[in-house]
Amino acid sequence: ALERYASIRDVPCVAACGTRVALNMNAGLMADLPSLQGSGAEGVGLFRTELQFLVRNQMPRRTELAALYARVLDAADGKRVVFRTLDIGSDKVLPYMKPNDEPNPALGWRAIRVGLDKPGVLRMQLQALLRAANGRPLSVMFPFVAQFDEYRAARAEMDKAIERERILGHTLPERLEVGAMLETPSLAFAPKKFFEEVQFLSIGGNDLKQFFFAADRENERVRRRYDTLNVSFLTFIEGIADRCASTGTHLSFCGEDAGRPIEAVCLAAIGIRCLSMRPASIGPVKHLLMRVRLDAVKAVIDAARERGEQSVRSAVMQYLSETL
Ligand code: PEP
Ligand code: MG
Repeated sequence: ALERYASIRDVPCVAACGTRVALNMNAGLMADLPSLQGSGAEGVGLFRTELQFLVRNQMPRRTELAALYARVLDAADGKRVVFRTLDIGSDKVLPYMKPNDEPNPALGWRAIRVGLDKPGVLRMQLQALLRAANGRPLSVMFPFVAQFDEYRAARAEMDKAIERERILGHTLPERLEVGAMLETPSLAFAPKKFFEEVQFLSIGGNDLKQFFFAADRENERVRRRYDTLNVSFLTFIEGIADRCASTGTHLSFCGEDAGRPIEAVCLAAIGIRCLSMRPASIGPVKHLLMRVRLDAVKAVIDAARERGEQSVRSAVMQYLSETL
């Protein structure tokens, strides 16, 4: 699939209306990094850090993590890599951590909730990231932030980690960006001040959708029941894009849907100008995006919404089949 799109691999993604859409890739392993060149991704929009914790039978050491993150940055060769701090809990349980019996793990003690309540691992991870950067630019985001205070507290952990590194005489990142994943509907309605303070946001569409529709992403029975192009969900996402535009907050979308061409076109049309997806999806998504006018797709979405359709999918598909 990568060869098929080779001719557009190294050109920036610009839609037919002239709108620039940045395409990044998701990763989680050292072995994913060669795809950065192969896929034409502009950077790594989401580096999931869980795997290094899951594949071991004991907690990794800070030095091991720092070496691994350094190799990721080396392989990225100056391209932006957004490291997401540990999202453990819910479906991802560490073999060496005491399991906590929770009736609803997806709604339970996971991700940044664990990171703030028991900050040892988060602190170790932040220190490993700072050491790995060793003066290079660094981007870090926190998973599953549900309210402003959680972001502030996590950001304070980063500030403390930096202070510690400074005292120890280590080189600090030349540039540091600290952001949050928007995966719970509550964060979309956070105070304006949150949008001003956070340095960037990335919509975790997999989780955001499961909580928006109250439909378990792991449950085959309900998983596919609600279309991502459902008018309610799309309108919700559009509201987030509008809020971010009004505060100048950089926004991206990194759930699986970003890698589906029709979904990607609709997300770009409602104002999401940065998408992160599996490397193999970049070619097909770019190929379609470069052939469509996003303003025209936006008009199709608005008209379907006006007509009271439940999903804009058939209207958009019809428009695309008529114009391409
Ligand atoms: C998401 O929730 O959309 C996301 C990107 O994170 P994960 O799939 O790892 O939960
Ligand atoms: Mg998630």
